[in-house]
Amino acid sequence: MLFDFDKKERKEILQTVFERLENYLSTTKDFRTNPELDIDKIRDLLSKEDLHHGVDPEVAVRLVTDGLENYSVHTPHPKYFGLFNPRSNYAGIIADLITATYNPQLAAWSHAPFAVEVEQKMIREFSLKFGYKEQNADGVFTTGGAEANLTAILCALKHKYPNIAKNGLFGVKKRPVIFCSEDAHHSIIKAAKIVGVGYEMVKSIPTTDELKMDTWILEKELKKLDTAIYSPLMVIGTAGITGTGAIDDLYRLAIICKKHNIWFHVDAAYGGGAVLSGELKSELYGIEFSDSITFDAHKWMSVPMGASVFLTSKNEILGETFSITTEYMPKEAEQLEVKEPFVRSVQWSRRFIGLKIYLSLLFYGWSGYEKTIGHQVQMGNLLRNRLLEEGWSIRNNTALPVICFTHEDFESYPDFVKEVLSKILTSGKSWLSVYPIKGVLAFRACITNYNTTEREVEELVNELKTALLAYASEKSVMI
Ligand SMILES: *Cc1c(COP(=O)(O)O)cnc(C)c1O
Repeated sequence: MLFDFDKKERKEILQTVFERLENYLSTTKDFRTNPELDIDKIRDLLSKEDLHHGVDPEVAVRLVTDGLENYSVHTPHPKYFGLFNPRSNYAGIIADLITATYNPQLAAWSHAPFAVEVEQKMIREFSLKFGYKEQNADGVFTTGGAEANLTAILCALKHKYPNIAKNGLFGVKKRPVIFCSEDAHHSIIKAAKIVGVGYEMVKSIPTTDELKMDTWILEKELKKLDTAIYSPLMVIGTAGITGTGAIDDLYRLAIICKKHNIWFHVDAAYGGGAVLSGELKSELYGIEFSDSITFDAHKWMSVPMGASVFLTSKNEILGETFSITTEYMPKEAEQLEVKEPFVRSVQWSRRFIGLKIYLSLLFYGWSGYEKTIGHQVQMGNLLRNRLLEEGWSIRNNTALPVICFTHEDFESYPDFVKEVLSKILTSGKSWLSVYPIKGVLAFRACITNYNTTEREVEELVNELKTALLAYASEKSVMI
């Protein structure tokens, strides 16, 4: 049939794909980390092919792989010191291919019992890692941290206002308030808009010198809340602030939430990876007392997007929040004690997200993760030390491999960080970002790739040195 091709054709296409991917995986470092941003060239490339009749599959495969190779920031590059985007591990790549082929529908248990049970097992494993009690724990796979944070707000609303499913926010007399750090992820703002709470009700709490949410100010804000108009809905602690890698004082937040009887959610999208390392685990102390957790597997677990989990220690809440009855959904599993994904999550049709993690564990084990995360932390420490040796100042304080730094000699020059960064990005050898810390712009480098070694760290330090010297001599010419 037209769509299927025959065995020989499939093999040829797959062979072409394999060769392209293999070439990319084995020579990633030879690519420029970031592309030329020429929109006309890209649109031109896309206008050449005949979409009415289609083209030869080999031509098609080359077109898209060339496009991706020439016009992407190469997040799989060992010198991508950027946001929390990993190089996909091979298990994750294979898992996506397998999932696409079998295309199991995970909405209803009876349609994909193996796949749903795999995901349930993964949810149990993660829950235990984070210190939840097995009998209370529940969770669901989401496409990303944004969906998991949205799920958390929906659960907190349902928990506080049991009738909200029926009446919506019109039945809520006082405006629900969400508290989080001023550095918390903006997906919380977006979720507040989506659920109709309104972003004005996301109260940013300033951070301490250690860049953690100031729990003293949080308590003060809770006390002075005008309870005639407002009602605290939840506190969202962050484990691994996107900009700084800081981890809020989760234990202290848990106590405050218990005292005020409000939902405690931990956004551990990135930093949750710390539970997989014996050395780092204690950094997350207190997370076990939370009501819910966001954890992105597509960050520190190095699987392809989108793979995230929402976990909760209130095992009834997902069912209560998302329940629905239909005539047309399969009912074969009605008599079995199973969890139906479509009545427990935002999504309906569901991809087998959990396979990326299950196959990764089958390939590498939790022990493989412990080793890899340990390596990345070590590379982070090396980068921190090398920068200090070279005269840079470190502006954040975290056990995670996220390093924010500036240079005291140049801090008074407003364009310093941007100019030096621009030199590095122009060279295309490394990719890093910037983040303002207490109003001062700093460089931000994260060891997010499992293949980054001492060599790439040293190369980055040297590129920074070269760019800094070039900037300094330009300045002296101007002065
Ligand atoms: C990345 C991130 C998110 C958003 O997650 P997505 O997977 O991109 O949807 C939320 N919170 C934090 C702390 C993050 O680092």
